[in-house]
Amino acid sequence: MDFDTRLAEAWVRALAEAVGKEHERLTELDSAIGDGDHGSNLRRGFAAVLAVLDDPDTPAPTGPGAVLTRTGSTLISKVGGASGPLYGKAFRAIGAALAAPAGAPADGPADVAALGEALAAGLRAVRELGRAEEGDKTIVDAWTPALAAYREAVAGGAGLPGATAAAAAGAERGALATVPLQARKGRASYLGPRSIGHQDPGATSTALLFRALAEATRA
Ligand code: ADP
Ligand code: MG
Repeated sequence: MDFDTRLAEAWVRALAEAVGKEHERLTELDSAIGDGDHGSNLRRGFAAVLAVLDDPDTPAPTGPGAVLTRTGSTLISKVGGASGPLYGKAFRAIGAALAAPAGAPADGPADVAALGEALAAGLRAVRELGRAEEGDKTIVDAWTPALAAYREAVAGGAGLPGATAAAAAGAERGALATVPLQARKGRASYLGPRSIGHQDPGATSTALLFRALAEATRA
């Protein structure tokens, strides 16, 4: 099984559904250490992404890279706050990594290793824009262990379902591990030590992102 247009769309749709179900929890987490808009930010963003995917006047995507680039661009244009640009750039970077080489008409399916490289490009994009290190209590703290678990699974011979399931578990571990951290980036950092003892909303939504990918690619 390779990561093709159908799976890319299935990922984005599963993530939109998860955000729709979990937005209250995300907003609650953001109310504790931020401004209480993380769930509504992402819900608005992914509703717009679904509208683009379902728009009969938008030309069909040329491949999985195009689906994810389009997702990222929509998030950037529709979501304010820190998370819109961060997730937007991440999806655009994933899309660019999967995109067709110059001159080719379409971006073909990606194998499990190529998707891993694309997910690494997504993390690089988050880090370049947000300048967060591991341990700063952000998206980076879920994405980093997710990627490490994905790569370890691939090295052990896993295919897409196994590697994405490992990544989802890694992201969930990473999100839980933000609880004792003091935030050093974003609004939560204004709280200083009072940010300790709460799970980071962005790391939590990153866990949803990887869980959705695992659901989409489940054999
Ligand atoms: P805002 O903080 O602007 O209200 P959101 O509430 O949508 O935006 O998103 C907050 C989340 O964004 C945080 O929980 C954190 O995980 C993430 N975040 C904030 N700043 C950064 C950063 N510099 N790098 C990575 N992630 C960040
Ligand atoms: Mg917020």
